[in-house]
Amino acid sequence: MSARILDGKAIAAELKDSVKQKVEKMVAEGNRAPGLVVILVGENPASQVYVRNKQNSCEQVGFYSELKRLSVDTTQAELLSLIDELNGREEVDGILVQLPLPGHIDEETVTERILPTKDVDGFHPYNMGRLTLRMPLLRPCTPKGVMTMLEKTGVDLVGKDAVIIGQSNIVGRPMALELLAARCTITICHSKTRDLEEKVRNADIVVAAVGVPKFVKGEWVKPGATVIDVGINRLDDGTLCGDVDYDSAAEHAEWITPVPGGVGPMTVATLLENTLQAAEMHKDA
Ligand code: NAP
Repeated sequence: MSARILDGKAIAAELKDSVKQKVEKMVAEGNRAPGLVVILVGENPASQVYVRNKQNSCEQVGFYSELKRLSVDTTQAELLSLIDELNGREEVDGILVQLPLPGHIDEETVTERILPTKDVDGFHPYNMGRLTLRMPLLRPCTPKGVMTMLEKTGVDLVGKDAVIIGQSNIVGRPMALELLAARCTITICHSKTRDLEEKVRNADIVVAAVGVPKFVKGEWVKPGATVIDVGINRLDDGTLCGDVDYDSAAEHAEWITPVPGGVGPMTVATLLENTLQAAEMHKDA
């Protein structure tokens, strides 16, 4: 079997186009365009690339966007005071603090300081709590983007066995909540999980968010399964690879996401979708 490719780049382009059209309509009706402010602390090279991507995407869909570059020795108090200022600015619908932050700044304190209705990353405990209680508001971008991709497959998720490898707050946990809400039976694996391979072998849907190149082997994949690779790993030769051994997994899966060009573009497109959602909420408030 040779898997069908879930083309994240193409689905993200469709999503961006739909956001762009909604922004045009919003503005034509006399409203201001949605506004996103991205805060980057320090000079982490990967973060610089991510932030540039987000800025470019904002421009493409007609958002107002601002990048706040702060030096690596910015204090936590200074960062919190900037967030307070942005929380109070009417034209700012979304505030995104690019992670990771330098070690002297507590990420949880910073995340909690963002107004939940401006938390377009969906990481605030309020938004995570709402997802847990099946009352989602702003949902974490990567898992929400994965759900958009799964919808495109047309695979009926109800009753399916889903295995999520990784239990991080930003990917694994919210991914599990999304799939549970879609009525899958979920298994969350992590570094202490026993018989992980066996669990993957029984899964109809596998989501890998491990951060280990080619961690999931092709022979673990159940014939006909859907394989979602969230991992982004840079190899020594400079190329990117996912957490799934793509070539061998594609021989077993029905659907598979490539890296690059799979989940990554969906995360950015979903951030735009969330910012538009926040702007609509603020408009109607
Ligand atoms: P993370 O916080 O480091 O979490 C990794 C998870 O994998 C942890 O739960 C860890 O278990 C588990 N794990 C590590 N080694 C394992 C092993 N040998 N066996 C089983 N489980 C193992 O990472 P993350 O932030 O969730 O990101 C995961 C990957 O996705 C990374 O490659 C990251 O770059 C990528 N990512 C991609 C996007 C995107 O837009 N495509 C977005 C975010 C992240 P423990 O909890 O027990 O330590």
